[in-house]
Amino acid sequence: MVRRLIERYLQLMNIQVKTPNDYGFLCYCPFHRDVHKPSFSVNGDTGWWQCFAGCGSGPFPVLTKRLGLGVIILPFVSGDSNKSKKPDVPKNRPSEGEILFYVKNISLPWVLRGFDLSTLERFQVGFDPAKNETIFPIRDKDGTLLAYLHSPKQSVYYYYGDRRGESFFGAHLIDDNNDIVALCEGVADAMRIWQLGHLPAIAIMGSKLTPGQTAWLKKLRRPIYCMLDNDPAGRKGNIQIWEKLRGYCRLQFIHWPKGIKDPGQLDSSRELERLLGQAKPFPKSV
Ligand SMILES: [Zn+2]
Repeated sequence: MVRRLIERYLQLMNIQVKTPNDYGFLCYCPFHRDVHKPSFSVNGDTGWWQCFAGCGSGPFPVLTKRLGLGVIILPFVSGDSNKSKKPDVPKNRPSEGEILFYVKNISLPWVLRGFDLSTLERFQVGFDPAKNETIFPIRDKDGTLLAYLHSPKQSVYYYYGDRRGESFFGAHLIDDNNDIVALCEGVADAMRIWQLGHLPAIAIMGSKLTPGQTAWLKKLRRPIYCMLDNDPAGRKGNIQIWEKLRGYCRLQFIHWPKGIKDPGQLDSSRELERLLGQAKPFPKSV
């Protein structure tokens, strides 16, 4: 799994793989004129790289950084959450090549929060080694990249790309086999629901649907389980969803028990199943 992603990274960096082997990859070194015998090796499990001719060695993010593969090619004004300044949202659309996919050793903070590597891979959580920030791509159902979220630290997110309101985080996980879809507020909520139930979960990235998201859900044609946060904003969001979508979608609302703040706090599949089983076709009052 990690190996495949590392290979993808190497492709993105135009590093030519000569021989894949059990250890990883033997490549032509990108730092010196290396045409006869490949002298650059990359470990397929950890991403550790080394040039036998002396160009250096190190962890994978150092390699991507040295080769200038930064995620933020788009101009932005860096935001300071304390002063509630927002970064400028660039008008141009991010391209696939600008997203860095997740690698095991740099997803550690999210692993420590209890997310499986397979979950992080499924949602294609990435990392920008130049800025030391986690990246969450926002895709359409067909996988098209529309925008992405940057998270310099826990619970702080910035958007890039002007098409973010057209879809949901996690939308690309919905396929023809899914009977139901969970709707939630944040990226951690969506990943937790997926991890516990393999239930496709899509995050609004807030508690209020955009007009684009509303139109998107009207076309979804399968039951939607609303799992917005257990707080006034979440309950208000649920009521707005009910007002906008009833008659168009089959809606079910989770009525949270006391003590659970949001889906990110669920810790067992059984608990998730129980809540889904007890869902009601109307929202709780604010
Ligand atoms: Zn070299």
